[in-house]
Amino acid sequence: MIKVKSFVFNPIQVNTYVVYDETNECVIIDSGCYFDNEKQELISFLENNNLKPVKVLNTHLHIDHILGNTLLFEKYNLLPQAHKQDDFLLEQAVFFGTSLGISLDKQPPKIGKYLSDNDTVKFGNSELKVIHVPGHSPGSIVFYDEKQHFLFAGDVLFNGSIGRTDLPLCDYDTLIEGIKSKLFTLPDDVIVYAGHGEQTTIGEEKSSNPFFN
Ligand SMILES: [Zn+2]
Ligand SMILES: [Zn+2]
Repeated sequence: MIKVKSFVFNPIQVNTYVVYDETNECVIIDSGCYFDNEKQELISFLENNNLKPVKVLNTHLHIDHILGNTLLFEKYNLLPQAHKQDDFLLEQAVFFGTSLGISLDKQPPKIGKYLSDNDTVKFGNSELKVIHVPGHSPGSIVFYDEKQHFLFAGDVLFNGSIGRTDLPLCDYDTLIEGIKSKLFTLPDDVIVYAGHGEQTTIGEEKSSNPFFN
């Protein structure tokens, strides 16, 4: 049985998720902690619950989603796992951060393992399926729990919105098509844990998201 703990971190208010099961192994999705108190909050949660981080996962590599990767690498020796097509964003991270008022004192860790569509990410007794849904970024992926019916959508799909497509290598039509064909074909009761804002469900977004209605 998977449990999900969420945090809201950094000036861009990203949702960071710690996902764990009865074995106490956990994965951390989009570690966005930036300020010292945020880093402390994440580490305290892991330590107080005796959780063992085994993977650092990224839905995509925009700066707000990767700010905590350095901490997790230094403390747990875990390199992030993400889609290859977002690699270029890492090189731009320091520059992109500065334009948003976020200063990075060093280059974020490189990707340790590339994830592709249909891959399975395992931890403890659990697994998440990787679904590639490009458009917000070329390498955007979501992590789907087929058994418990929830997914981590990153900036692909939000409660009442979709990811922005005005950044380099974004594409609006690709994003809309990907959501329709790869996410809206999942069961209606699938809970969507988005990269920003409140959680929602596939059924709710299918029936009321203004981009599709
Ligand atoms: Zn993004
Ligand atoms: Zn974001």
